[in-house]
Amino acid sequence: MRSPYLLLDIDGVLIPFPDADGTTPATHARHDVVPTGRSADNPVTIWLNPDHGHLLMDVIRTGLVTPVWCTSWRQDAATLVGPLLGLPVLPYVDLPRPQITTSHPDGYLWKRDHVDTWLGDAPAIWIDDDFTRLDHGWAAARTARGAATLLVQPDPHIGLQPEHLAQVTTWAAQVPAIRAA
Ligand SMILES: [Mg+2]
Repeated sequence: MRSPYLLLDIDGVLIPFPDADGTTPATHARHDVVPTGRSADNPVTIWLNPDHGHLLMDVIRTGLVTPVWCTSWRQDAATLVGPLLGLPVLPYVDLPRPQITTSHPDGYLWKRDHVDTWLGDAPAIWIDDDFTRLDHGWAAARTARGAATLLVQPDPHIGLQPEHLAQVTTWAAQVPAIRAA
């Protein structure tokens, strides 16, 4: 059986949102990056925790999951952000660029319909800071029809924590049992 996909968001997961006073965690280091389509004299400042690279590699090396970026950074996740964390170039979900002013234009995460199509019936763990109640319902419905699905939702001001990834590996190791149930 194929290992479940591990869908990875970046903003609010690897890059925490600033606090009200504009600060980010002391664990994170500043990088200036130039996303695709942006001019080199207009970089974007991001904050990354080098520990996330080690933690994610530990998960990837278990072979229990198939990691895939699922973020509005799209290919820049694979070629720009991931390498800053020491990650290999991973595949990414090529999300569209909808003209939306909220991440929940229909009450659920805007990425979800694309992810649903992309996944088909594959089991999946999805780490994103922006799920709504409807997304959790979607995950439960997928699981009920045999496509085991785990949503992991970090606090966007804190981001990914070691316990989130511990949950990922524990759950991924149990997926065959979930599918057989
Ligand atoms: Mg996010």
